[in-house]
Amino acid sequence: MTDVVIAGAGIIGCATAAELLSADPALEVVLVEPDPSYARAATGRGSGGVRQLFTRPENITLSQYTLQVIQDWDRWAGDGAPKLSWCPNGYLFIAGPQNIGTLAANFGTQQRHGVQAQWLEPAQLADRYPAMRTDDLAGAVLSVRDGWLDPTAFLAGVRSKAERLGAVFVTDRVAGFRTAGTVVRAAVLESGRTLTAEAVVNAAGTWAPDLACAAGITLPVEPVRRYVHDVETTADLGDLPFIKDVAGLAVHPRLQGLSVGVVDFDHPGGEDFTIDDAYCSRTVAPALAGRLPGCGQMTVTSTRAGLYDQNRFDGNMIIGNWPGHLDSFHLASGFSGHGLMHALGVGRALTELILHGDYTTLDLHRLNYQRIIDNHPYPEHGIR
Ligand SMILES: Cc1cc2nc3c(=O)[nH]c(=O)nc-3n(C[C@H](O)[C@H](O)[C@H](O)COP(=O)(O)OP(=O)(O)OC[C@H]3O[C@@H](n4cnc5c(N)ncnc54)[C@H](O)[C@@H]3O)c2cc1C
Repeated sequence: MTDVVIAGAGIIGCATAAELLSADPALEVVLVEPDPSYARAATGRGSGGVRQLFTRPENITLSQYTLQVIQDWDRWAGDGAPKLSWCPNGYLFIAGPQNIGTLAANFGTQQRHGVQAQWLEPAQLADRYPAMRTDDLAGAVLSVRDGWLDPTAFLAGVRSKAERLGAVFVTDRVAGFRTAGTVVRAAVLESGRTLTAEAVVNAAGTWAPDLACAAGITLPVEPVRRYVHDVETTADLGDLPFIKDVAGLAVHPRLQGLSVGVVDFDHPGGEDFTIDDAYCSRTVAPALAGRLPGCGQMTVTSTRAGLYDQNRFDGNMIIGNWPGHLDSFHLASGFSGHGLMHALGVGRALTELILHGDYTTLDLHRLNYQRIIDNHPYPEHGIR
C-alpha cells in the first residue's frame, strides 16, 4: 500500500510530493504522470510571475511562502539545483479613474497582511518609469519584493527535490479509482495497474475535472487558452517591473526584450493550443504601444499558447478533500493563472491535511470544495 498517490507531476504534484517527504521522509509517495516531456502542461508555459498583490489573505500568504523559498532556494532545492533566473523588479498594478477605488481598497488589505507595497501617484509613476504612459492613470501599487522566475527551472528544482527525497515517478495515466463508501482506496492506471493508497491527490491541472468526475464530483474548472509573446524592441524602457492592468495587459522585461500577454476575454474555453497570428497585431501590439509608447516598433519573436485551469465559479483554487463525501481524495485544481506562485504553499497545506487531518499553518478552508456546493464564491477583487 502506497501512502499517497498523486495524479499529475506538474508543479502542484511535485511541490506536494516534496512537501510530504520533507515532513515525513518515511512516506511512500508515487506520482503518476503520462507525459514526462510536459508538452501540454501549464507549468512550463507560464510567465513565472510571483506576486503578493492579491485580496484574499490565503493567496497573499501562499505567495509569501514562495518568496521565502526563493530567497533560500540553493539550500531548499539542494546542490546542483537549476538557477531560477529570479528577477525581483517588483509587481506594479496600475488603474485609471474608474478602478482607483478598488485598487486603494486592495492596497489597504495588502498592507494589513504584511505586503511591502507602495502607493504611487501618476507623477511619481512618470518619474520612476519614464517609458510608461501615465496620463490616463489615477494611481498604482508597487509590491517591491515580487518578481518573476524561469518556470521550467522552478519545476525542475522542485521535481528533483521530490526525487531526492524518495518520490517515485511512474509514467502512466490515472484512469479511475476504486472507492469504498467515502474513501478512495486505489488509483487505477491506464496500463491496468492498480495503486492502493491511503490518500490520493488530484493534481492533473486542466485535466483534473475528468479525474474528479471519475471520483464522482463535478469541478467548475475548464481549460482557457492564454498566450505569452516574446517581443524585441529597440526602445529604451529603463528598469521595468511586472506591469498589470485591469484591461488584461501583463508585461515584464525578458532577456533583451519583453514578455507580453493580453487576456482574450472572448475565448470560449476548451483545450485549444492554436496560435492566432493576427491576435498579436490586432490586440497585443496596440495594448503594448498604448502603455509603453516606445514599443510602437516591435517584433514578436515567439508566441506560445498554454492553458489556464480556470475556475469558472470564483477564479480561485479548489483545494483539499470533501469531508463526509470524499475523505481521502484531495483536490488541487482551478488555479486560474496563479498555480506556479502558490504551488509550494499548496503542497504544504495538503501535507498538513493528509498527515494531520487539518491545516496547521496555512489555513485554506475557505478554498475548499464545499463552498461550491454551498454556492459561496470566494473571488479576488480588482486585477486578477
Ligand atoms: C500563459 C500562462 C501564463 C501563466 N502565468 C503564471 C504566472 O505568471 N504565475 C503563476 O503563478 N502561474 C501562472 N500560470 C499558471 C500556472 O502555470 C499553473 O497554475 C500551474 O502551472 C498549474 O500547475 P499544475 O501542476 O496544476 O498543472 P500542469 O503543469 O498542467 O500539470 C498537470 C499534469 O497532470 C498531468 N495529467 C493529466 N491528466 C492526467 C491523468 N489522468 N493522470 C495523471 N496525470 C495527468 C499532465 O500531463 C500534466 O503534466 C500561467 C499559465 C499560463 C498557461
